Amino acid sequence: MSPQRPDIAELELPELEAALATRGVEAFHARQLYRWIYRRGVTDFDRMTDLSRALRARVREDLTLSTPRIVGDERSTDGTRKFVFELADGRCIESVFIPDTPSMTFCISTQVGCAMSCGFCLTGKMGLIRNLTAGEIAGQVRVLAAATGLLEQPFNIVLMGMGEPLHNYDAVMQAVRMLTDEHGFAMPPRRITLSTVGLVPAILRLAREPVMPNLAISLHGTTDEQRNALVPVNRKYPLEALMAACRQVPIKRRDRITFEYVLLDGVNDTPADARRLVRLLADIRAKVNLIPLNPAPGIPFERPSDDRVDRFARMLAERGTTVSVRKSRGRDIRAACGQLIVDGQRRSPAQRAATLLPA
Ligand code: SAH
Repeated sequence: MSPQRPDIAELELPELEAALATRGVEAFHARQLYRWIYRRGVTDFDRMTDLSRALRARVREDLTLSTPRIVGDERSTDGTRKFVFELADGRCIESVFIPDTPSMTFCISTQVGCAMSCGFCLTGKMGLIRNLTAGEIAGQVRVLAAATGLLEQPFNIVLMGMGEPLHNYDAVMQAVRMLTDEHGFAMPPRRITLSTVGLVPAILRLAREPVMPNLAISLHGTTDEQRNALVPVNRKYPLEALMAACRQVPIKRRDRITFEYVLLDGVNDTPADARRLVRLLADIRAKVNLIPLNPAPGIPFERPSDDRVDRFARMLAERGTTVSVRKSRGRDIRAACGQLIVDGQRRSPAQRAATLLPA
């Protein structure tokens, strides 16, 4: 057994074709493998019955296939399910299945932990432990689709689980290509939404990608002072630079950029905030998604009353800004936004030192 056996889970289709070609295997077998692994959720080579016995033996000997393992599956009273996955190195991540919103949505993770330290997010308290690989990102979708019986049905993906997707750019974009491949899930890129804290150089890079997901920006504040306090990365990429980057995103191909705005009682939910928000987004094809805070122990903010949330939403709507309020799902199983955290994964001092903000 060679330690260099390529892991099919980490390969885009052309890479898998190349890996097979060097072993004298024809390219169309790569497409067959992709279909089994993604569309039918089969990971056991012996069950891939349209591959010859000899080919299956060859693949088993020369290649591997890693798949995240479900070690937890909790159901909320509202139908939301939170899965805990164990990865090859024993690290754990969480992913969430949110049914009927109105379509089916998987919320998946892109890192173990997160380096961004937003003031209201539990995942941020973990710090960054490590990036996920493309195979681990796409693998969550493979396993979730099989576990929820959705292999044959359309679903959406939101990259809103643990981690900052643009802080793990290459792996995330590779996973997007794998999930949109016509021989895999063949997902339309518009069914994938990437949510970012606002890493400006990465947004500009994303704007030039041939395969581009929908973009959601975690805004949360309308002045630099306010945003610096809530989303520390704003000190590096302030609002003006962030808005300028958003204007570079080709919106012709998609309808709008989503701006997520966590409502924190008495902090960023006043009428003055609403008016500033409208002004900030005036010349951008934007829609606002308000997220009333999901409170948690250790988070020094409170959720505003429903009345305050309504008043804020109405102020935006009256001024012509498209707005929705995100219904909180799965709070009883700690699966709601900002509540994903896996205990017992403390970082070593070396890992902490390695957690640098992107250049
Ligand atoms: N790192 C990415 C994606 C992960 S978080 C990002 O920041 O966009 C997905 C969304 O949940 C973000 O908008 C985030 O700010 C929000 N969120 C984090 N903690 C929250 C909390 N406690 N309550 C409500 N929303 C929260």
